[in-house]
Amino acid sequence: MKSLEETDALLKEANLKLTPTRRRILKVFRKYPFALSYNDINDSVKEKLDKVTIYRTLKTFEEKGIIHQVLDTSSQVKYALCNSSCSKHEHQDAHIHFKCTSCHQTYCIEDREIPSVPLPKGFTEVHSSMLVEGICKDCNELALL
Ligand SMILES: [Zn+2]
Ligand SMILES: [Zn+2]
Ligand SMILES: [Zn+2]
Repeated sequence: MKSLEETDALLKEANLKLTPTRRRILKVFRKYPFALSYNDINDSVKEKLDKVTIYRTLKTFEEKGIIHQVLDTSSQVKYALCNSSCSKHEHQDAHIHFKCTSCHQTYCIEDREIPSVPLPKGFTEVHSSMLVEGICKDCNELALL
């Protein structure tokens, strides 16, 4: 199946061993178009994995440039797949995130960059994120039916 090959390719590219756990968690990310929390992943993997394993895998994926943190207004940290320009050296996820107030999912809007904000004297930017809330495409389409 093509998607499995792509999952393996992502792991190989990051110099990670193709373990069943990593494959399984990465498959979950590839299945959904929106950011996932620990709970979402835990609910989606067929055979249960322990909590520490999931957290450790997420941390490894983040360090290797496979996923990035998505800050939204929910109390849980969410992660989304990076695009191919991220690597273990540097993440390139300067895009906005969009949280749907109807389905409560948060999407990466990869072709919309975070506008740069001029900071007051004495402040240095390290990282910035931007969350836009509203109604997503799917929910808007549903509303029209
Ligand atoms: Zn990234
Ligand atoms: Zn929605
Ligand atoms: Zn994103």
